[in-house]
Amino acid sequence: MSRASTLAVDGGDPAVTIDDPERWKRPIEAETEIVTDLLEAGAISGSGSGFPLEFEAEFREYSGAEYCLTVDHGSTAIESAFYAVGVGPGDEVITPTVGYIGAYAGALHLGARPVFCEIDPKTLLPDPADIERRITDRTAAIAITHWNGRVCDMDAILDISDQHDIPIVEDAAHAHASEWKGEHIGSVGDIACFSLQGVSPHGKPIAAGEGGIVTTNVREYYERQLSYCHLHRSGVNDELTLEPYDGLDWEVLGLKYRAHPLALGIAKVGLENLDYRVERRLRYRDRLFERLEELPGVRPVWPYEESETDGLYGGLKVVLEPDELGRSPEVVVEALTAEGAPVRGPGFSYMEHRRTIFREGYDLWGRGRSPIDGEFCGLPAYEGYQEGDFPISEALDERVVTVASYIEPEEGFVEQVTRAFEKVAR
Ligand SMILES: *Cc1c(COP(=O)(O)O)cnc(C)c1O
Repeated sequence: MSRASTLAVDGGDPAVTIDDPERWKRPIEAETEIVTDLLEAGAISGSGSGFPLEFEAEFREYSGAEYCLTVDHGSTAIESAFYAVGVGPGDEVITPTVGYIGAYAGALHLGARPVFCEIDPKTLLPDPADIERRITDRTAAIAITHWNGRVCDMDAILDISDQHDIPIVEDAAHAHASEWKGEHIGSVGDIACFSLQGVSPHGKPIAAGEGGIVTTNVREYYERQLSYCHLHRSGVNDELTLEPYDGLDWEVLGLKYRAHPLALGIAKVGLENLDYRVERRLRYRDRLFERLEELPGVRPVWPYEESETDGLYGGLKVVLEPDELGRSPEVVVEALTAEGAPVRGPGFSYMEHRRTIFREGYDLWGRGRSPIDGEFCGLPAYEGYQEGDFPISEALDERVVTVASYIEPEEGFVEQVTRAFEKVAR
């Protein structure tokens, strides 16, 4: 056997020789120009007027939503959304165990108990049938995450929402450009939360250091958010038109989560080149997945057919079939890594039911007051999760790998990655 066909783990030549393949460059000059203009104008604080208001209008138009508010983090965007839909002490919020603590921590700190659910093995997104099975008369919201920009089954989930009259809080931290049946996330459901965390191209799809956005199509949700955490926003009292919010003063309910204008300046540049980056990433995904699909034991994870987007943050997912490969996923990942393929795993980075606080319970506010420790505000005694509670998600955790996605990979890179998978699979 030639050195080229011998596996790199066995001393052969690695299939991937390009080690820093991303050729797309962040437009730093454009970011600097906006930030400098804001600095020179002294416009580095405030909300509800000037540049922050313009940015909200721009994102609102992009998403197609009725209302848009910027905040300081994706996490606080989500927290304010839970407040907006009325989550409070003694409620339950259903969310997938293949998820992220930031997607439901806001509900936990408002006094609600997270109830985890399984994922659909085809897309690795929350399984609508399992969500429905876990609904009780205490369920106050369903929190879903559009992982890597892959959109959850919105038809099924919005149907459940309608039938049971339970709001959906969308964690769209990876999904700024994602669409369902041609409609942008933000206009599809009632309330969606975006993160601006990190730096492009590796950060959230729009990355501005730190920041967050909430879009909603429900006036009541918009006004509840304004009252919750938009202290001293220009014009806030004119915007508060519904009872009881119309009676609040300028200091509303006292919390202040507003976005930093300089971060929004960086975000504006990210929004301008978002569609370009997404389109290129999808082209990379298609070229890679179409080749991987032909290999034994390698199953690329495509989104639902109502949606296109994927790999916008955190990479692309591939499920390995150890029976067909004749080796454990660990051995396969080791071999792929030796070939120089940009893979991580096996495993999801997070499995929520395995966290210590959810296995053992946790006295959140002390003195026995906690939604995840004993009884609380009408919630039955907390039982805690254990291994085996989520057989579908746990089994997938042993077989899923993440492959990095790129905007403008160097010429020949996708062929090299494909070759690495081919060598290892065969
Ligand atoms: C980044 C992220 C968040 C929170 O956003 P921050 O801006 O970091 O607070 C929430 N959910 C998911 C899935 C994320 O990746």
